Amino acid sequence: MSTTARPPVPPVKVEEKLYQNRYMVDEGRPHVRIQPHDTASPTLRTLVDVCPAGCYSATDDGRVEIIPDGCMECGTCRILCEASGEIEWNYPRGGYGILFKFG
Ligand code: SF4
Repeated sequence: MSTTARPPVPPVKVEEKLYQNRYMVDEGRPHVRIQPHDTASPTLRTLVDVCPAGCYSATDDGRVEIIPDGCMECGTCRILCEASGEIEWNYPRGGYGILFKFG
């Protein structure tokens, strides 16, 4: 068994890793939509905090809106709203959406 210590790996910020990804935005055809609402439910408000790409934001009048251009297609919002049906979620059309860069 080797006792050679490996050199420490320098920390990398999540933002720097995400910056490596590329996105092909399907202009005018968002793949995630929020159902019309006057006041955001607790579930919708939660999406503002849990979306890793920061696609959801709260408006001054108590609603939640989405700009899915940077969506990572993780499905978190889809799972959280599956029961309530507050969002409509589809994968982007072929050729659009996120292109992950690994490594
Ligand atoms: S799928 Fe993930 S990244 Fe995309 S909008 Fe939902 S929570 Fe955000």
